[in-house]
Amino acid sequence: MMLKQLTVISGKGGTGKTTIVGALACLADNKVIADCDVDAPDLHLLLQPEVITREEFRGAKVAVIDDDACTGCGSCADICRFSAIEDTPSGFTVSSVRCEGCGACVFGCEQDAIALRERISGYTLVSQTRYGKMVHAELKVGEEASGKLVTAVRATAERVADEEGCETILIDGSPGIGCPVIASLTGVDLALVVTEPTMSGLHDLKRIIEVTRHFGIRSAVCINKYDLNEANSMEIMDYCDCEGIPVAGKIPYDPEVTRAMVAGMPVVEYSDGVVSSAIRTLWQYISRII
Ligand code: SF4
Ligand code: SF4
Repeated sequence: MMLKQLTVISGKGGTGKTTIVGALACLADNKVIADCDVDAPDLHLLLQPEVITREEFRGAKVAVIDDDACTGCGSCADICRFSAIEDTPSGFTVSSVRCEGCGACVFGCEQDAIALRERISGYTLVSQTRYGKMVHAELKVGEEASGKLVTAVRATAERVADEEGCETILIDGSPGIGCPVIASLTGVDLALVVTEPTMSGLHDLKRIIEVTRHFGIRSAVCINKYDLNEANSMEIMDYCDCEGIPVAGKIPYDPEVTRAMVAGMPVVEYSDGVVSSAIRTLWQYISRII
Protein backbone atom coordinates (compact mmCIF):
# COMPACT_ATOMS: atom_id res chain seq x y z
CA MET A 1 0.00 0.00 0.00
CA MET A 2 1.37 3.43 -0.98
CA LEU A 3 1.65 5.77 1.98
CA LYS A 4 0.34 9.26 1.20
CA GLN A 5 1.39 12.32 3.16
CA LEU A 6 -0.61 15.52 3.40
CA THR A 7 0.73 18.59 5.20
CA VAL A 8 -1.61 21.39 6.20
CA ILE A 9 0.23 24.70 6.45
CA SER A 10 -0.48 28.40 6.58
CA GLY A 11 1.62 31.44 5.79
CA LYS A 12 1.22 32.57 9.41
CA GLY A 13 -0.57 31.60 12.60
CA GLY A 14 -4.24 32.23 13.33
CA THR A 15 -5.74 31.18 9.99
CA GLY A 16 -7.73 28.30 11.50
CA LYS A 17 -5.25 25.65 10.38
CA THR A 18 -5.72 23.58 13.54
CA THR A 19 -9.52 23.65 13.16
CA ILE A 20 -9.13 22.18 9.69
CA VAL A 21 -6.52 19.57 10.67
CA GLY A 22 -8.70 18.51 13.65
CA ALA A 23 -11.69 18.08 11.35
CA LEU A 24 -9.66 16.18 8.72
CA ALA A 25 -8.34 13.91 11.49
CA CYS A 26 -11.96 13.05 12.20
CA LEU A 27 -12.87 12.48 8.53
CA ALA A 28 -9.83 10.59 7.21
CA ASP A 29 -9.77 6.82 7.67
CA ASN A 30 -6.75 4.69 8.34
CA LYS A 31 -4.24 7.47 9.03
CA VAL A 32 -1.64 8.65 11.51
CA ILE A 33 -1.81 12.25 12.67
CA ALA A 34 1.52 14.09 13.04
CA ASP A 35 1.55 17.39 14.88
CA CYS A 36 4.60 19.14 13.42
CA ASP A 37 3.57 22.54 14.76
CA VAL A 38 6.09 21.83 17.50
CA ASP A 39 6.55 25.46 18.58
CA ALA A 40 2.91 26.02 19.48
CA PRO A 41 1.11 22.70 19.36
CA ASP A 42 -2.61 22.99 19.97
CA LEU A 43 -4.01 20.01 18.09
CA HIS A 44 -4.01 18.05 21.35
CA LEU A 45 -6.71 20.41 22.66
CA LEU A 46 -9.08 19.04 20.02
CA LEU A 47 -7.88 15.45 19.79
CA GLN A 48 -7.14 14.84 23.49
CA PRO A 49 -4.39 12.29 23.02
CA GLU A 50 -3.47 9.74 25.67
CA VAL A 51 0.29 9.27 25.62
CA ILE A 52 1.48 5.71 24.98
CA THR A 53 5.23 6.22 24.50
CA ARG A 54 7.62 9.10 25.09
CA GLU A 55 11.12 9.15 23.54
CA GLU A 56 13.89 11.58 24.36
CA PHE A 57 14.80 14.01 21.61
CA ARG A 58 18.42 15.20 21.60
CA GLY A 59 18.56 17.95 19.02
CA ALA A 60 20.95 20.46 20.54
CA LYS A 61 24.36 20.50 22.14
CA VAL A 62 25.56 22.21 25.28
CA ALA A 63 29.07 23.00 26.51
CA VAL A 64 30.21 21.18 29.64
CA ILE A 65 33.27 22.25 31.65
CA ASP A 66 35.48 19.66 33.32
CA ASP A 67 36.22 21.30 36.69
CA ASP A 68 39.30 19.16 37.27
CA ALA A 69 40.94 20.32 34.03
CA CYS A 70 39.81 23.97 34.28
CA THR A 71 42.43 26.42 35.57
CA GLY A 72 39.93 29.28 35.86
CA CYS A 73 41.62 31.50 33.24
CA GLY A 74 38.27 32.90 32.10
CA SER A 75 38.99 32.94 28.35
CA CYS A 76 35.88 30.91 27.60
CA ALA A 77 33.65 33.49 29.28
CA ASP A 78 35.27 36.21 27.11
CA ILE A 79 34.88 34.14 23.95
CA CYS A 80 31.21 33.23 24.41
CA ARG A 81 29.02 35.62 22.42
CA PHE A 82 25.92 34.40 24.23
CA SER A 83 27.13 35.22 27.76
CA ALA A 84 26.51 31.61 28.64
CA ILE A 85 29.63 31.13 30.77
CA GLU A 86 29.71 32.66 34.23
CA ASP A 87 32.35 32.94 36.91
CA THR A 88 30.61 31.54 39.99
CA PRO A 89 31.94 30.76 43.50
CA SER A 90 32.10 27.10 42.46
CA GLY A 91 34.08 27.84 39.26
CA PHE A 92 33.23 28.66 35.64
CA THR A 93 29.82 27.24 34.72
CA VAL A 94 27.73 27.07 31.55
CA SER A 95 24.10 28.17 31.51
CA SER A 96 22.32 25.44 29.55
CA VAL A 97 19.53 27.91 28.73
CA ARG A 98 21.85 30.48 27.12
CA CYS A 99 24.38 28.08 25.54
CA GLU A 100 23.76 27.75 21.79
CA GLY A 101 26.21 24.86 21.41
CA CYS A 102 28.34 26.82 18.91
CA GLY A 103 31.58 25.23 20.16
CA ALA A 104 33.66 28.46 20.18
CA CYS A 105 34.65 27.94 23.82
CA VAL A 106 35.76 24.36 23.11
CA PHE A 107 38.31 25.65 20.58
CA GLY A 108 39.26 28.57 22.80
CA CYS A 109 40.10 26.58 25.93
CA GLU A 110 43.80 25.84 26.00
CA GLN A 111 43.33 23.23 28.74
CA ASP A 112 40.88 21.14 26.65
CA ALA A 113 38.55 21.43 29.60
CA ILE A 114 35.34 21.97 27.60
CA ALA A 115 33.38 19.46 25.55
CA LEU A 116 30.04 19.63 23.74
CA ARG A 117 27.43 17.13 24.87
CA GLU A 118 24.03 16.39 23.41
CA ARG A 119 21.21 17.50 25.63
CA ILE A 120 17.61 16.43 25.86
CA SER A 121 15.66 19.21 24.11
CA GLY A 122 12.27 17.54 24.28
CA TYR A 123 10.34 14.38 23.59
CA THR A 124 8.51 12.76 20.73
CA LEU A 125 5.25 11.20 21.84
CA VAL A 126 3.05 8.52 20.34
CA SER A 127 -0.52 8.81 21.59
CA GLN A 128 -3.91 7.27 21.11
CA THR A 129 -6.79 9.55 20.14
CA ARG A 130 -10.41 8.80 19.31
CA TYR A 131 -9.39 9.22 15.67
CA GLY A 132 -6.31 6.98 15.56
CA LYS A 133 -2.66 7.26 16.52
CA MET A 134 -1.08 10.67 16.84
CA VAL A 135 2.62 11.57 16.96
CA HIS A 136 3.54 14.86 18.55
CA ALA A 137 6.31 16.59 20.46
CA GLU A 138 7.00 18.27 23.72
CA LEU A 139 9.78 20.85 23.88
CA LYS A 140 11.54 21.54 27.15
CA VAL A 141 11.18 25.07 28.51
CA GLY A 142 13.65 27.46 26.87
CA GLU A 143 14.26 25.17 23.88
CA GLU A 144 13.43 26.34 20.39
CA ALA A 145 11.74 24.14 17.84
CA SER A 146 13.98 22.97 15.10
CA GLY A 147 13.58 21.24 11.79
CA LYS A 148 15.28 18.27 13.46
CA LEU A 149 12.42 17.81 15.92
CA VAL A 150 9.87 18.01 13.08
CA THR A 151 11.90 15.41 11.18
CA ALA A 152 11.90 13.19 14.29
CA VAL A 153 8.09 13.51 14.60
CA ARG A 154 7.68 12.61 10.92
CA ALA A 155 10.04 9.65 11.15
CA THR A 156 8.08 8.30 14.13
CA ALA A 157 4.78 8.86 12.28
CA GLU A 158 6.12 6.88 9.30
CA ARG A 159 7.15 4.05 11.60
CA VAL A 160 3.71 4.00 13.28
CA ALA A 161 1.96 4.14 9.89
CA ASP A 162 4.04 1.18 8.76
CA GLU A 163 3.29 -0.80 11.93
CA GLU A 164 -0.42 -0.10 11.72
CA GLY A 165 -0.75 -0.46 7.94
CA CYS A 166 -2.04 3.11 7.55
CA GLU A 167 -2.52 4.73 4.15
CA THR A 168 -2.15 8.38 5.09
CA ILE A 169 -0.12 10.65 7.33
CA LEU A 170 -1.95 13.86 8.12
CA ILE A 171 0.60 16.48 9.13
CA ASP A 172 -0.17 19.71 10.96
CA GLY A 173 2.73 21.89 9.77
CA SER A 174 4.27 24.91 11.46
CA PRO A 175 3.06 28.34 10.44
CA GLY A 176 5.41 30.66 8.55
CA ILE A 177 8.18 29.79 6.11
CA GLY A 178 11.07 28.88 8.42
CA CYS A 179 13.07 25.70 8.95
CA PRO A 180 10.35 23.71 10.84
CA VAL A 181 7.80 24.30 8.06
CA ILE A 182 10.27 23.21 5.40
CA ALA A 183 10.97 20.06 7.43
CA SER A 184 7.23 19.40 7.61
CA LEU A 185 6.90 19.76 3.81
CA THR A 186 9.79 17.82 2.32
CA GLY A 187 8.68 14.81 0.33
CA VAL A 188 4.93 15.11 1.02
CA ASP A 189 2.35 14.36 -1.67
CA LEU A 190 0.31 17.51 -1.14
CA ALA A 191 0.56 20.76 0.81
CA LEU A 192 -2.82 22.18 1.73
CA VAL A 193 -2.30 25.88 2.36
CA VAL A 194 -4.91 27.43 4.64
CA THR A 195 -5.36 31.12 4.08
CA GLU A 196 -7.84 33.81 5.04
CA PRO A 197 -9.21 36.77 3.09
CA THR A 198 -7.32 39.50 4.96
CA MET A 199 -4.97 42.16 3.63
CA SER A 200 -1.94 40.07 4.53
CA GLY A 201 -3.55 36.73 3.60
CA LEU A 202 -2.65 36.85 -0.08
CA HIS A 203 0.88 38.11 0.63
CA ASP A 204 1.51 35.22 3.11
CA LEU A 205 -0.06 32.76 0.67
CA LYS A 206 2.27 33.85 -2.13
CA ARG A 207 5.32 33.44 0.11
CA ILE A 208 4.37 29.92 1.18
CA ILE A 209 3.48 28.89 -2.38
CA GLU A 210 6.97 30.02 -3.42
CA VAL A 211 8.40 27.71 -0.74
CA THR A 212 6.32 24.72 -1.91
CA ARG A 213 7.35 25.38 -5.50
CA HIS A 214 11.00 25.66 -4.56
CA PHE A 215 10.81 22.18 -3.04
CA GLY A 216 8.71 20.80 -5.92
CA ILE A 217 5.66 20.08 -3.74
CA ARG A 218 2.17 20.09 -5.19
CA SER A 219 -0.15 22.45 -3.34
CA ALA A 220 -3.83 23.26 -3.02
CA VAL A 221 -5.46 26.16 -1.20
CA CYS A 222 -8.26 26.37 1.34
CA ILE A 223 -9.76 29.80 2.05
CA ASN A 224 -10.99 29.88 5.61
CA LYS A 225 -13.76 32.34 6.64
CA TYR A 226 -13.96 33.26 2.96
CA ASP A 227 -17.24 35.13 3.37
CA LEU A 228 -15.76 37.69 5.80
CA ASN A 229 -14.32 39.52 2.80
CA GLU A 230 -15.56 38.15 -0.51
CA ALA A 231 -13.56 40.69 -2.54
CA ASN A 232 -10.28 39.52 -0.99
CA SER A 233 -11.38 35.89 -1.41
CA MET A 234 -11.98 36.59 -5.09
CA GLU A 235 -8.48 38.07 -5.36
CA ILE A 236 -7.01 34.90 -3.78
CA MET A 237 -9.01 32.74 -6.19
CA ASP A 238 -7.81 34.80 -9.16
CA TYR A 239 -4.23 34.39 -8.00
CA CYS A 240 -4.70 30.59 -7.63
CA ASP A 241 -6.32 30.44 -11.05
CA CYS A 242 -3.42 32.28 -12.69
CA GLU A 243 -0.88 30.08 -10.95
CA GLY A 244 -2.73 26.84 -11.69
CA ILE A 245 -3.23 26.02 -7.99
CA PRO A 246 -6.55 24.36 -7.16
CA VAL A 247 -8.78 25.95 -4.53
CA ALA A 248 -9.72 22.78 -2.68
CA GLY A 249 -12.21 24.38 -0.34
CA LYS A 250 -13.89 27.56 0.85
CA ILE A 251 -14.95 27.48 4.49
CA PRO A 252 -17.50 30.04 5.70
CA TYR A 253 -17.27 31.88 9.01
CA ASP A 254 -19.37 30.37 11.77
CA PRO A 255 -19.11 30.99 15.55
CA GLU A 256 -19.83 27.27 15.90
CA VAL A 257 -16.08 26.72 15.30
CA THR A 258 -15.24 28.60 18.51
CA ARG A 259 -17.90 26.67 20.44
CA ALA A 260 -16.41 23.39 19.17
CA MET A 261 -12.93 24.58 20.18
CA VAL A 262 -14.15 25.45 23.68
CA ALA A 263 -15.82 22.04 23.90
CA GLY A 264 -12.47 20.47 22.86
CA MET A 265 -13.91 18.73 19.80
CA PRO A 266 -13.25 18.81 16.06
CA VAL A 267 -15.98 20.92 14.47
CA VAL A 268 -17.25 18.10 12.24
CA GLU A 269 -17.90 16.02 15.32
CA TYR A 270 -19.39 18.88 17.32
CA SER A 271 -22.06 19.92 14.84
CA ASP A 272 -23.34 19.41 11.33
CA GLY A 273 -23.45 23.06 10.28
CA VAL A 274 -22.11 24.95 7.29
CA VAL A 275 -18.46 24.67 8.33
CA SER A 276 -18.66 20.90 8.82
CA SER A 277 -20.31 20.51 5.48
CA ALA A 278 -17.65 22.67 3.74
CA ILE A 279 -14.83 20.70 5.38
CA ARG A 280 -16.41 17.40 4.30
CA THR A 281 -16.45 18.71 0.71
CA LEU A 282 -12.82 19.82 1.13
CA TRP A 283 -11.81 16.33 2.31
CA GLN A 284 -13.64 14.65 -0.59
CA TYR A 285 -11.71 16.85 -2.99
CA ILE A 286 -8.33 16.22 -1.31
CA SER A 287 -8.91 12.44 -1.18
CA ARG A 288 -9.51 12.52 -4.92
CA ILE A 289 -6.39 14.48 -5.85
CA ILE A 290 -3.81 13.19 -3.39
S1 SF4 B 1 38.95 28.59 29.04
FE1 SF4 B 1 39.12 26.48 29.84
S2 SF4 B 1 40.54 26.68 31.52
FE2 SF4 B 1 39.86 28.74 31.04
S3 SF4 B 1 38.13 29.08 32.47
FE3 SF4 B 1 37.29 28.29 30.54
S4 SF4 B 1 37.20 26.09 30.87
FE4 SF4 B 1 38.55 26.87 32.41
S1 SF4 C 1 29.24 26.42 23.08
FE1 SF4 C 1 29.11 28.52 22.31
S2 SF4 C 1 27.29 29.33 23.30
FE2 SF4 C 1 27.85 27.50 24.44
S3 SF4 C 1 29.11 28.26 26.10
FE3 SF4 C 1 30.48 27.70 24.44
S4 SF4 C 1 30.80 29.61 23.31
FE4 SF4 C 1 29.02 29.90 24.59
